[in-house]
Amino acid sequence: MTTTITNWISGARADATSGLQQPVYNPATGAVTGQVQLSAQKDVDAAVASAKAAFPAWSNLSPLRRSRVLNKFLALLNEHRDDLARMITAEHGKVFTDAQGEVMRGIEIVEFACGAPQLLKTDFTDQVSTNIDNWTLRQPLGVVTGITPFNFPVMVPMWMFPVALATGNTFVLKPSPLDPSPSLFIADLLKQAGLPDGVFNVVQGDKDAVNALIEHPDVQAVSFVGSTPIANHIYETGARHGKRVQALGGAKNHLVVMPDADIDQVVDALMGAAYGSAGERCMAISVAVFVGEETAEKVMPKLIERTLELKVLNGTNLEAEMGPIVTRAAHERITGYIEQGVKEGATLLVDGREFNGQTAGEGCADGFWMGGTLFDNVTPDMRIYKEEIFGPVLACLRVKDFGEAVDLINAHEFGNGVSLYTRDGHIAREFGRRIQVGMVGINVPIPVPMAWHGFGGWKKSLFGDMHAYGEEGVRFYTKQKSIMQRWPQAIAKGAEFAMPTSH
Ligand code: NAD
Repeated sequence: MTTTITNWISGARADATSGLQQPVYNPATGAVTGQVQLSAQKDVDAAVASAKAAFPAWSNLSPLRRSRVLNKFLALLNEHRDDLARMITAEHGKVFTDAQGEVMRGIEIVEFACGAPQLLKTDFTDQVSTNIDNWTLRQPLGVVTGITPFNFPVMVPMWMFPVALATGNTFVLKPSPLDPSPSLFIADLLKQAGLPDGVFNVVQGDKDAVNALIEHPDVQAVSFVGSTPIANHIYETGARHGKRVQALGGAKNHLVVMPDADIDQVVDALMGAAYGSAGERCMAISVAVFVGEETAEKVMPKLIERTLELKVLNGTNLEAEMGPIVTRAAHERITGYIEQGVKEGATLLVDGREFNGQTAGEGCADGFWMGGTLFDNVTPDMRIYKEEIFGPVLACLRVKDFGEAVDLINAHEFGNGVSLYTRDGHIAREFGRRIQVGMVGINVPIPVPMAWHGFGGWKKSLFGDMHAYGEEGVRFYTKQKSIMQRWPQAIAKGAEFAMPTSH
């Protein structure tokens, strides 16, 4: 049985008017499990109008009352954590425990956003000039939108809307059409938590819905997470239409192995970070950089053995380490990169194309399967090094020293995440200071910052100034106003023509 995934406008499901829809797959089996409606301009107009109508009342509510709604939502989320995780596994394919982790990381942002009253506290200066006080307010923007990728259908929307709602904005979410079901489940939980109708809306769809949103005159700000070319387009178009934009893009994350690193820890880190979620994470490690030939010689045999042993199974199987690829098209793109790597002269040590899903579980023969792929002797001029593959493919490079590793990474066009394995505190400190990457892990392979620290890369991995969630998230969804005040009794007679100064 297939389900129809609709929009959510003014607190209820609403059919898109376009009459268009596209299939939603279970990537493990290749079966069509649903149809997602594709919104047109009219649907976006309806969602934005609903959010606009809800804004005055929601933004006027005290921050404490808004955060009480979010607290109820948090309780419901905790109750339904596994339902959401199951939904993610069914449409994305990632293994259930990984999906549970995704939901948890989303919940952490809701926990952060529940502190809205504290987050919205501002500055006050008594007596900036005689009898004059000055203070700042942080006020919500109005209707804001979040456009999200397929790879975290729960966590990435939760980077955005909890902070946006807590700070008094109303929201229109445009999820990925590849795994849209969690968006409606979340909308329903928000309603159960007491969120007024219209404060949170969902428009399903793709390019047309996105373009209608980023050009809409009543949308004040756009948060986007996805691939770099689209992030660039969103940033430029949104800015041209006068919107505040944060657009997070793609990545190519390196893990540097120093000669003094613990080799078993390195192998564990590379396995989890390269092949977890089938490499479909913007913080996945896709490049291993070995400092010195000897370091490489110690790691490679173990890495080959472990990659061959990777448990590639239906994500519903609790033994699974890696699930399928999200779509057939993504599978073809990744396969194309593996062919390209071979053509360019990299050494293909483990070929994930050999895995076809027959052993992944019952009914998996027609799913979008591949195993982990391992390349050695990759060089910086190869496309498999330069471009984001977004699949379970690990490229290994060798450099002669630490400085060469830093230069290599700093020359890359992406700057999302990076990791260094070492026992040397000085090298770790130098790395943290010199590396041109937004999120750095020292003996931590996937350094996704916690809810109150904010997430964002550098270079082509982020267009805009402000990171997602954390204090920068609060700043992104609010605008600062300065108020300077005195009372008539304190005003001296006569007009002042000179620029006012403190006196
Ligand atoms: P994508 O860019 O294809 O899609 C992202 C969103 O943009 C979706 O909602 C999609 O419907 C919409 N979209 C797609 N094509 C569009 C177009 N031509 N015009 C307007 N909108 C369009 O990304 P994806 O494949 O869903 O996700 C994977 C990508 O996201 C990877 O590049 C990954 O690195 C990136 N990502 C980045 C981060 C980060 O924080 N930097 C986090 C997660 C994912």
